[in-house]
Amino acid sequence: MDIHKVGVIGAGTMGNGIAQVFAMSGREVALIDQDGDALGKALARIERSVAKFATKKGDDPESAAASVRKLIQSSTDIEAVADCDLVVEAIVENADVKKTVFGRLDEICKPDAVLASNTSSISITLIGAATKRPEQVIGMHFMNPVPIMKLVEVIRGHLTSDETLATIDAAVASLGKTAVAANDYPGFVANRILMPMINEACFALMENVADAASIDSIMKLGCNHPMGPLQLADFIGLDVCLSILNVLQTELGDPKYRPCPLLRRMVAAGLLGRKSGRGFYDYSK
Ligand code: NAD
Repeated sequence: MDIHKVGVIGAGTMGNGIAQVFAMSGREVALIDQDGDALGKALARIERSVAKFATKKGDDPESAAASVRKLIQSSTDIEAVADCDLVVEAIVENADVKKTVFGRLDEICKPDAVLASNTSSISITLIGAATKRPEQVIGMHFMNPVPIMKLVEVIRGHLTSDETLATIDAAVASLGKTAVAANDYPGFVANRILMPMINEACFALMENVADAASIDSIMKLGCNHPMGPLQLADFIGLDVCLSILNVLQTELGDPKYRPCPLLRRMVAAGLLGRKSGRGFYDYSK
């Protein structure tokens, strides 16, 4: 199936990037968030990002931003995605909230629409079971920052059809990105491996093995990582990291995934990383 119009639910860290890349591919986008302020911020961020790409290419930044912006319609009403061929959900990492949203999408979307989740860790099979079209439900795990990162981890739920997989592989290729398939196990591949490393960095900080900057420097210079694990956690969002670790621990039942108490305490204190202005580092300036 060809994808002409895309709905994106959630306009936070990931949703605005997903809306941007689909609009940059020339498609119409309906961007939805329950929070009107989040929509305003997302649209401003998309315009800035598109302008930056255009400047780098030697194009006119203002007209590039305006032509992408023209393709994005924003709304707090989820019914605005009713005529979309593909809907990508990028809301909070909570299984119950996602199930409710997919149940609603199933009611309002066209019968042949594909419903994708950008979840980092929650079962695609479980999300699909909240709909009457589990064969058209799939995981589309974009990486952060979406306009830059080439990978989309594509997760097939237990009942996802070959046709849905082919549609999503083609859509990913049309964005100039690479789809790599993973099976439906908690955290899939990326977060099954990444989150224990971030969690271990939190334990190392809590136990004062080294300070945050030293932990990050050691992993950057010593292991050739482009970002240190604590810097990366701030970038992802500490609340998102905690939610993913909770899913890994609950679903895999192995105590090795238990979230570090320091991570829990920072989330409780509202120190969520870049998006809140402070996490392991201070972004207020
Ligand atoms: P975020 O907190 O930045 O944004 C979530 C947005 O969803 C908020 O604007 C919120 O208002 C909105 N929202 C919440 N519930 C909603 C609902 N019921 N209807 C409409 N809008 C709703 O979160 P994020 O970091 O963008 O993460 C979104 C999803 O993407 C999560 O499933 C997360 O696990 C996944 N993900 C995150 C990253 C990352 O680096 N942050 C990377 C890959 C995948």
